[in-house]
Amino acid sequence: MASEPVARAVAEEVGRWGSMKQTGVTLRYMMEFGSRPTQRNLLLSAQFLHKELPIRFARRALELDSLPFGLSNKPAILKVRDWYLDSFRDIRYFPEVRSRNDELAFTQMINMVKVRHNNVVPTMALGVQQLKKELGRSRKVPFEFDEIDEFLDRFYMSRIGIRMLIGQHVALHDPKPEPGVIGLINTRLSPIQVAQAACEDARSVCLREYGSAPDINIYGDPNFTFPYVTLHLHLMLFELVKNSLRAVQERYMNSDKDVPPVRIIVADGEEDVTIKVSDEGGGIPRSGLPRIFTYLYSTAKNPPELDRPNTEGVTMAGYGFGLPISRLYARYFGGDLQIISMEGYGTDAYLHLSRLGDSEEPLP
Ligand code: ADP
Ligand code: MG
Repeated sequence: MASEPVARAVAEEVGRWGSMKQTGVTLRYMMEFGSRPTQRNLLLSAQFLHKELPIRFARRALELDSLPFGLSNKPAILKVRDWYLDSFRDIRYFPEVRSRNDELAFTQMINMVKVRHNNVVPTMALGVQQLKKELGRSRKVPFEFDEIDEFLDRFYMSRIGIRMLIGQHVALHDPKPEPGVIGLINTRLSPIQVAQAACEDARSVCLREYGSAPDINIYGDPNFTFPYVTLHLHLMLFELVKNSLRAVQERYMNSDKDVPPVRIIVADGEEDVTIKVSDEGGGIPRSGLPRIFTYLYSTAKNPPELDRPNTEGVTMAGYGFGLPISRLYARYFGGDLQIISMEGYGTDAYLHLSRLGDSEEPLP
């Protein structure tokens, strides 16, 4: 346990760093900088992170301490807050990075920080779920949760940025990168290929859950490529395709009609690459549309227990995070996600990815 004065000193330091200005980067900058991963550049990158990451961790730690409705005092939220404080401390008090050896030690340390935060999403969700249950019991009128949803948007957006910065720096140390790959960025990413991989993953989850899975047809130029982060695109498509498969599956499960395939269309525009995931799963009622981008909203019948670890991402549906988090990933690099529904017929999800790569990280 830290003594009182030490704890106070750290709290002051968090307050000071938490009010400093964050510095955003762009996809293009990360790509250009990372294309020359020389010793000197890795050192510069580490020095930038040494200054930038404590600011980002401190801001989130401060916000986690001042949430409405007593959310800050939920054990799960306190746990997350402590991870942010620990990471702030680890980086803030790491000695100045001057030599190659310093740089390697720093890189190892921030990689460990990234691992510490692996379970932030389900842990936060657990805290919010507890609060929702309590408030739902104590109030007769449906509770407005906007404030919490806005906070979670800021919080998860910041997390995407922190993980991108650390992940990119660590990945630049790969001694033998694949051709065209710069850290986490694939400069020649084929959306068709990523779509195929995401569909395979989503179909296997569907098969496991229902015993069968609708077909998926993918349309677009297989030779078309553009620079993007494979991990991010895979995650977004995986979530969208799971939603479509579930809707179609549940609609046709007990019928003898032909099951209409899910269709994915890739369009390469000048400004945007747009990927449409289109299904005939019956759509979403217009009254439900405003809620689909809120956290924990799900129409899944058996929502998984959030306090059971290691189920994140491998369930078909039920957390209600798929859409809001996918939209944050799209927006992180200047894109967006829109859902258009025809109730009684089906849903189209439009995933817009900005091609120019010039949009700066949104920094909540
Ligand atoms: P989850 O899939 O865990 O429920 P999501 O954020 O992915 O959470 O989706 C939220 C809700 O939006 C779903 O529970 C479902 O009711 C609705 N939804 C999303 N995509 C579709 C779709 N393609 N067809 C019908 N309903 C959908
Ligand atoms: Mg989903």
